[in-house]
Amino acid sequence: MVSNTEVAGTLAEIADLLDLLGERFKPEAYRRAARSIEALPEGLEKIAARGELQSIPGVGEAISGKVAELLRSGSLAYLERLRAQVPAGVLELMRLPGVGPKTARRFWTELGIEGPAQLSQAIAAGRLSGVKGFAEKKISQLRAASGVVGSAPLPGRVPIEQAWPLAGSIVEALRAVPTVHEVAVAGSLRRARETVGDLDVLVTADRPEAVFDAFSRLPEVREVRLRGPTKETVVLARGLQVDLRVVEPEAFGAALQYFTGSKDHNVRLRSLARELGLKVNEYGVYRGDERVAGRTEQDVYRALGLAWIPPELREDQGEIADAAVGRLPRLVEAPELVSELHAHLSPSPGSRELERLVAAARLRSIRAVGVVVARVRGGKPSWAAPPEMLDGLRGLTNQGVRLVPAVEVEGDLSSVDGDALVAWGAEYLIAVPPEEGPFSAPARRPPAPVRLVAHAGGSVEAARPVLELARACAAAIEVGPGVERFDSIVARVARESGVALAVPTEVGTPAGDPTAAVALGFVRRAGATREDVLNTQELGGRVDLGLPGKGPNALGRPSGRRRR
Ligand SMILES: [Zn+2]
Repeated sequence: MVSNTEVAGTLAEIADLLDLLGERFKPEAYRRAARSIEALPEGLEKIAARGELQSIPGVGEAISGKVAELLRSGSLAYLERLRAQVPAGVLELMRLPGVGPKTARRFWTELGIEGPAQLSQAIAAGRLSGVKGFAEKKISQLRAASGVVGSAPLPGRVPIEQAWPLAGSIVEALRAVPTVHEVAVAGSLRRARETVGDLDVLVTADRPEAVFDAFSRLPEVREVRLRGPTKETVVLARGLQVDLRVVEPEAFGAALQYFTGSKDHNVRLRSLARELGLKVNEYGVYRGDERVAGRTEQDVYRALGLAWIPPELREDQGEIADAAVGRLPRLVEAPELVSELHAHLSPSPGSRELERLVAAARLRSIRAVGVVVARVRGGKPSWAAPPEMLDGLRGLTNQGVRLVPAVEVEGDLSSVDGDALVAWGAEYLIAVPPEEGPFSAPARRPPAPVRLVAHAGGSVEAARPVLELARACAAAIEVGPGVERFDSIVARVARESGVALAVPTEVGTPAGDPTAAVALGFVRRAGATREDVLNTQELGGRVDLGLPGKGPNALGRPSGRRRR
């Protein structure tokens, strides 16, 4: 089976190869199709089976034929033909910072340079000096860039949870610069995209030079690539590129809008502006030469007749039409999360652990915390909290925070012993994947309601059995970064099929861990409102936790436990 990500990756490679071969319009068409496919909430195979590939934005007759061939055979003759025409190293050249397709093509066709190592040698031998278009400054940039690649593989996109803390420390450092007024991170990080290519940071400030000096001195910065009057580009120690722009206050909102993207969202916004006789760019919204908006993002959208669109929705998936008629969903927000469904104690918990949980919950105004007190594998406990801790925990309401014991069950949910659950005081079960094989439906009704499926993740395809189990039990799936949670694409599929989502909060994760913030971004990206997220409700043991209008079915009915 070929995944959507693989197909998107193949189309993007075709775009790169076409660029290198000097094609002018085709590459952008392939890139657009790749972006659409990457964002699909459903497997391509299904769409192909219905004969609807051409309903995907940007996928016309030619591209749909190639996608179908890929799905059918796992390979693509067209791609092989293109690869045969371009040496592999030339593609790598194109991924060097500061080298676009045009430059890579010139290296290859005019100078016979077929890879980063050869570029490095050519620069050392002075072969670029005096060549038109390569000033000394450009050459020294290229020397640095090709050297980087020579020593380590050039990073591509990084997972958002790795970029998030870096962005946080950059923002904090910039806020501390006295001449800086406003600071914002734009780009795909702000949209909570699962992976981030680089960081876009915007500030308003009195003296850009002082801001750049402070920025360049950050311990995270490995190298300054470029400094202009209003922009500085640096590379962080981990290879992530950061563009810092100083913008004028009157254009701050317009710049934030522009650099947040996505590209497709902005393209559609610009065409809407044209229809209205306006022009929109990174400096503002203009009628003729007059700037009519730009100070805030709200102003920019309002000038175009639109409600402000949350960044997580800016993917050209119909959000602009929705904003025009006031139909945007009211996305779930952090203060609406009033419970945590999945907190772990350390393997040998100390006496202060419950206090720590209560304090963390109080800090976030979280009123109930589900604490895992045991894990059951094959019907037998593989771990359980010490009995003295259970006494302290059972139904404990401390300073307005209720601690709710929960048990994780691997494999058949009905294999867990009801008497053991009573001894543990467990009020609900958390389904976790068996070590081998897929999730399966419980053989009988489990002895306690199943609230959550956790420690599970993967593609839309891999998620199918998990979603079926969650639906059957009226349980939520856990969304967030990392391999043990589901991303925004699966979250959207779940939401649209009536499966609730659970968002990890800071209570369940170590201090400074970006999981909670990123997870909230993912569910918002999936279009989730308060009603779609289970932990926007209090976690009461005796209260029906079914979602409003989505009552739990037989397997999940809380009365299952009371009947014992
Ligand atoms: Zn767990």
